[in-house]
Parts: sequence; structure tokens; C-alpha cells
Amino acid sequence: MQERIEGFRLSPQQRRLWKLQQAVAAGPFYTRCAVSIDGELDEERLRAALGRAVVRHEILRTGFDCLPGMKVPLQIIGQGGARLLVAEDLSGLDAAAQSARIESLFGALERFEAGSEGRESLSAKCEPLSARLLKLRPSEHVLLLELPSMCGDAATMRNLLEELRRAYSGEPDEGDAPLQYADLAEWQNELLTAEDTKAGREFWSSRAREARRESRLPFEKRAEPDAPYVHARETLHLAPERVREIERAVAGRSQTTAAALFLLTCWKILLWRLTGEREVVVGVAYDGRGDEALKDALGPLTKYLPVASGLDERARFRDLLEQVGKNFDELLQWHEGFNWGCADDGDSAEGDSALYGFDYEEWPEARRGGEATFTLVRQYSRFASHSVSLNCVRRADGLSLEFHYDGRLFSAEDMRRLCAEYDALLRSAAVYPEEEIGALDMLGEPERRLLLQDWNATAIAYPGDRLIHHLFEEQVERTPAAPAVVCEARTLTYHELNARANRLARHLRGLGLGPEARVGVLMERSLEMVVALLAVLKAGAAYVPIDPEYPRERVAFLLADASAPVLLTQPRLLRSLPAHEAVVVAVDADAQVCADQSARNLHLAVSPQSLAYVIYTSGSTGRPKGVMITQANLRNHMLWMGECFPLGAEDCVLQKTPFSFDASVWEFYAPLLAGARLVMARPGAHRDPSYLVEVMVEQRVTVLQVVPTLLQALVETAGLERGASLRRLFCGGEALAAEAVRRFKARVPGAEVYNLYGPTETTIETTSWRCGGARGAASEPIGRPVANTQTYVLDAGLRLAPVGTAGELYIGGAQVARGYLARPALTAERFIPDPYGEGEGERLYRTGDMVRHLAGGELEFLGRLDHQVKVRGYRIE
Ligand code: AMP
Ligand code: MG
Repeated sequence: MQERIEGFRLSPQQRRLWKLQQAVAAGPFYTRCAVSIDGELDEERLRAALGRAVVRHEILRTGFDCLPGMKVPLQIIGQGGARLLVAEDLSGLDAAAQSARIESLFGALERFEAGSEGRESLSAKCEPLSARLLKLRPSEHVLLLELPSMCGDAATMRNLLEELRRAYSGEPDEGDAPLQYADLAEWQNELLTAEDTKAGREFWSSRAREARRESRLPFEKRAEPDAPYVHARETLHLAPERVREIERAVAGRSQTTAAALFLLTCWKILLWRLTGEREVVVGVAYDGRGDEALKDALGPLTKYLPVASGLDERARFRDLLEQVGKNFDELLQWHEGFNWGCADDGDSAEGDSALYGFDYEEWPEARRGGEATFTLVRQYSRFASHSVSLNCVRRADGLSLEFHYDGRLFSAEDMRRLCAEYDALLRSAAVYPEEEIGALDMLGEPERRLLLQDWNATAIAYPGDRLIHHLFEEQVERTPAAPAVVCEARTLTYHELNARANRLARHLRGLGLGPEARVGVLMERSLEMVVALLAVLKAGAAYVPIDPEYPRERVAFLLADASAPVLLTQPRLLRSLPAHEAVVVAVDADAQVCADQSARNLHLAVSPQSLAYVIYTSGSTGRPKGVMITQANLRNHMLWMGECFPLGAEDCVLQKTPFSFDASVWEFYAPLLAGARLVMARPGAHRDPSYLVEVMVEQRVTVLQVVPTLLQALVETAGLERGASLRRLFCGGEALAAEAVRRFKARVPGAEVYNLYGPTETTIETTSWRCGGARGAASEPIGRPVANTQTYVLDAGLRLAPVGTAGELYIGGAQVARGYLARPALTAERFIPDPYGEGEGERLYRTGDMVRHLAGGELEFLGRLDHQVKVRGYRIE
């Protein structure tokens, strides 16, 4: 066992890197570059130049070693002298195969892991610098250079390259003997304890307390705990004219810093928009060579200074740019005392670094060396553990912007979109630097198309013009003798139900009712209720369901507000009626009132634009408002439903939702348009899970709808597994926990579970989602829009929210209600002209619901706007 080693203390940067590398699966930490060498190349001279650089610079022959019990190693300077340059002849391959080989070498190097092999290569026994010369053609070579990051950063590579070139061309070395890194390391360590950097250290320790890490990107995945690090990148190239555009936008500042500042400011805006955080921290690389004497130094000197800036919707881009510049300059002033993550003891290095990185470099022009020219063509240095780091490189052919990211956390698709968003943002900020940052456009064309068109491509032309009661009458023709509706011991066949509804409809016509007239329906759940609803539709009028459990004042309010000339009710409810002006029609089991009317269909011409029902919603505040749903609205919904969730004679739907909620509407019509059986649960059933299980079993129910709260109760209910006839369970009305779905499916494995979402104002359902994929999220998404319906996620300025970011849901299309009954001002406020629609006079309903798009286009429900949801442009504390 080795007992004595001789070496030097690590520098602060090396200690930090060492700790990062010790952290599980955080590696690899290498710096590498590719240099293209054009012209005649003398391989031996290049080899000699490399050997000379290694002799001159200790850091190019430095390894790291610990004695047992040491927490951090020492840097140990070796002799060097190993065979440095591996040559590989690719000239026999075609261009594609050559670049594939280069790519795979560069990539393979990148895939070195921080496991035993990675650490081994840091040991004192290994040569840190490795070089590979690839021959593409006799006068075209690529030189790949690689150093562990503990021996060199990006600037090290650039300085090394220049030194190689000079040595290769036989130019004399500049100045005195080079500064050795071990000395620099010692000097940096001393600075960290020196008296005159005390103020700086205090500055940083006060900052450390403020540093936060919670601002994750909305589409970040949860990494598998032991998954090995995957380095991935997405690249954006800006041609010189785009770079000039940026430079014009920031004219007046010195060019280098201006372009860098512009790119950094846009990176911050993008992060701000995507995370919704008001303060965005970005680790900005400072190469540590501000001092003229350090300009040519080799070795890791780079620091990522955590630049924090507050962002505000209304801030002008140009002002923010100045602010970010000031933020950075302030940090730079104190950089000598910066010590996050590099203390010997302390916490893990990871806890100290920002999630997002930024790096700006200017690459030298191609330079001559002997008969050849040397051009840096690619470089990558991993120096921190950012989850996404933006590397900007200014070169002769424009700007190359590389997003390097942790492939365990992000998909390539999400990163491509992020890249396009950044591109769009650069464009709009360059054109409108005086604009408020909240108004800058950041959607790339493909994303805009996804949001506006692809995910809204729901158009279906449902043939014919038959309305709901017509479709029911057609079903009566097909299956007159089949059971249509069952209520406890009583059953009506399709024929009987239709006959009763026709008689009542004629009676209502006799009272003078027709299109647009509102008929109050105050009934308990019963066969008569079904007859009444159909009768009103057949009479061409609109019904207003009123729950008999409502307090008298509410009933009185609804009757008056709806100005219903007629009230349909049941004899046993007459006593509890409040004062009102409607003509009362009490319908009982033998339907005496209309017994002498004809039972034949009415064949009235009813316009699809006429009112079908008015359902009152209370909203969170204010008095209830009547939502006016037309025949066309209802028809679209029922045809969508029939198409997506077809029913047949074997099916049985349980009607249990109180009919004053619009979610109940389809429970009536879906079975009746398809020849299935409608089973009316007894009044109050929606509060009684045991009873529901009993009816499900007894009636062999195949379709059931529950609110998530009831689902929670249902999964606790004994005997649920006996409801095995169930094919579909629809949930909706509030957020649906994935756990409840899982538990339900465990007990009734044969049933599909769907999450349905929709405000009354857009006719029952707006989006639907089939539950059950193992997504790992706590709640189920609400899914994609139904037929002929568009959904838009917008910010307060009605701008499209990028994928993954929260916004308010706006709904357009065939199911948007006519508005609120007799409330024109409220209607105008909630139903707005559609800024994205193509037709004249189209409107959007603004829901007040906060949602976001997931990558597959499905929507996720986040909460009500009046609750605590962070959305750009909405100030909610
Ligand atoms: P209503 O007008 O009574 O149908 O209520 C509609 C409101 O209920 C929506 O605006 C949402 O706030 C909420 N809601 C409806 N369905 C869902 C669902 N599947 N997930 C979450 N919230 C829902
Ligand atoms: Mg609803």
C-alpha cells in the first residue's frame, strides 16, 4: 500500500468538480474539442508540438490521488512522455461515414462514465491529455483533443490549440516561462481565506441563502434514481445577418458583451416564461482570465457565477438587458471570493449550482500553422451539473447555440421545441427591443401550428340535420318494444316512452309554447322526468331543470329569472312550490292531463339554432346565471359521444346525476339514441355508494358517471367488484386523482375509465381522456377537445401559452353556448370574439380554469384562476 504521496492542494474549481464527480451518476466531466487542419500536415511535427506543450505545462501531465482517509485528492504532477497522438486513417471512407466516425468518437468520449473507469483515468498513473488525429484526405485532418475538466476548461483548449499551432509552425514562445496551474491553484486558495476578500465572501454567503432551485422546466421528467447520465444536445445556428440584427438591437454597448448579454437575457426570459418563476437564476460562465497575466493560462479557472434577475411582465426588453448586465457586473466584482460548492467539507457541490447554465465564447478565426490552417470546429466542456446549459459560440460563420442537457430529464422533442422557442424569442427581441418582455413572441412556427391547428383538428361533419328528439324517434322506429327506461319497478318501452312524450308535447303546444319558450321542469328522478324532457324538446321549446331539493327562494328565483310561462312538475311537489306566475302542469304516472292527445310524432320544424335547455350555474360568486344551450350545441355533443363511446342494445346507463347539473344531460340521451336501457336511480342516489353498487349489480349497468369524490367513496365500498358488467366509467367535474383510478381498475378491471372535462357554457364536455397510462403524475389529464371544438391555452394578453406552461383555457367551436339568459354584459365578458378563429363572428368561452398542454397535446388541469396558480400575467398571491 502506498503511504506517501507528494502533490499540491486542489484549486477551488477542482475541488468542486471532484465533489460533483463523486455525486451519483453526475459525470462525465471532460473538456474536448475538434480542430480541423487543412493543408499539408506533418504528423511528426504535430506530435512534437504536443509533446512540447506537455513538457511546458504541468497541468497537462497532472493526475489525482488520495491516501486512505483523505476526502479530496491531491494533484500530482507526473513526468509525461507517453505516446500522445493516436492516428487513424479514414480516407478510405465516404464523407458520411467519416462524419459518423467523428461523431461517434466525440460522442463516445462524451459517454465516459463517472464510474470506476472514469475515475481511473484521473489517477496519477494516467496521462490526462489525449489526442487523436483523423485523416480524412491527404490534406484534410481532424484533431480531437480531450482533457478531464479537472485539468482544463474551454479556454484551456483554446490556449492549448494556439500553443500547438505556434510550436508546430516553429514560432517562438511568447514571454517568460508559463504560469503553472498548481501555483495558480494555491494562489486561488489563498484568496479564499485572505483578509481583503472577506467582503466578497460575505457577499456570497448572503447570496447563498437566497439561491433557490425550485424553478424546474414544466416538461422535466423524473429521472430514474440509478439511470446513468446521458449527455444530449440540441443546436441552433444563427447566420451572420441574424447576428448583425442582434448587434443592431443592442448598439451602443461594446459588441462582445452586448451580444452575450442579449443571448443571456433571452435565455432568462425563456426560462421565466416556461417556469413561471419571477426570479431566474442562471449560472453564467466566467473563464477566470480577466487578469491580463492569466490570459494564456492552462487549467480549470472557469466559474459559473449565479446571476439572479427579477423578471416582470411589463419590463421592457432593453431595460431588462441593462439589469442583467448590472447583475453580472456586480458578481464579477466579487468573483475572487466566490466559493460555492468548493469548500472541503460543506454540503454537496450540486446543491450550490444553478439548474441552468450559460456560456459565451468567441472562437479564433482559422489560423495558419506551417503549411496548414487550424480551425476550431467543435468544443464541449462539462464543468457543472446544470440540467440545461446554453453554450453560445461566436465564430466566423455566425453564432452556434448549443443546448446541452441531461437526457434523463428531457426528451429530444421537448428540447427541440425549447430551441425553436429560443429562436423565436431572439427574433422578436431583436426586432422589438423596446417591447415589454411579456409581449415578445416566443413560439416557433411548428409549435404555433401544433397549438392552433394540429391539436385542434377536430372537424367532423355529422351528416343530416336531425336534432336530438328526431334521433330518438328514429330509434323508436328501430326498437319499439325494447325497454327504454326503467325506474324501480316500472319500465317503459321505446314506443311507450315516445307516445307519452308526444302527448305531453302536444299539450305544451296547446298552452302556446314554441321555440325559445322556457319550461321549468321541477321533478324528482322518475319516468315522468324523462317524458317531460323529451316532450319539451319535441314541442320545440327549451327546458329549465329545477331540483326539487332546492330551497324555495332558489326555485322562485329560477322561475322568475328564466321567465318560464309553464312549470312541469309532479302532484306531490305542488305543496312546496313558492309563489310564481307560471302555468303549472302536474304530470303523474297516468298522465291524466294529456291522456286525450295524439301519441304520434309531431313533425315540427325546429331550428338547430333554437334553445334546447337552460341550465343554471352558480359560479363562485354572484347570483346563478342561466346558460343557453341550443339544439345544435346539444346535437354536436351527443353525436360526438355516440361516435366515441358507442352503445348498443346490451348497454345500460345509470341516470344518477342531479338533472340540474349539465353532466346529467347525456345520461338521458346517450342510451335513448342507441336502443340501450336507461335506468333511473332513486332520488338522492348520488350520495349513496352502497345503493349505487346494488343497482349496478342488479341492473347490469354498463356505463356510469361519477364525480371524483364519489369515485373515492366507491372504491371503499364493499361489493364493488360485483359490478363487473361495467364497461365505461366517466369521471369529471373536478380533478381526478390517478390513484383513485388505479384503485378502481384494480377492483373492476373490465371497465375503461375516462376523465371528462367541460363547463356548462360549452355543453357538457369539452375534452376527454382515457385514463390509466402509467404517467407517474398525481392526477389524470383532461385530454383533447371533442369533435368540432377548439381549446386554446392563453395568457392574460390572449397570447398562446407555449407547450407545458400554464394559461387560461379558452374554448371555441360547435358547443359554445349562446350566452347567459338575459345577462348581455356578463355574456360579453365571458364569451369573447375568437382571435384565432377563421370564420366570422366566432366566439371563445373563457373558462377561468388554469391548464397547460402536455407534450402529447393533452391538457392538464391545474386549478381555478381564483386559486393559487402561477400564470404569466395573472397576479395571484
Ligand atoms: P360546470 O359548469 O358545473 O360543468 O363546472 C365546470 C367546471 O368544473 C370547470 O370549469 C372546472 O373548473 C371543473 N371541472 C369540470 N370537469 C373537470 C375535470 N375533469 N377536471 C377538473 N375540473 C373539472
Ligand atoms: Mg361540466
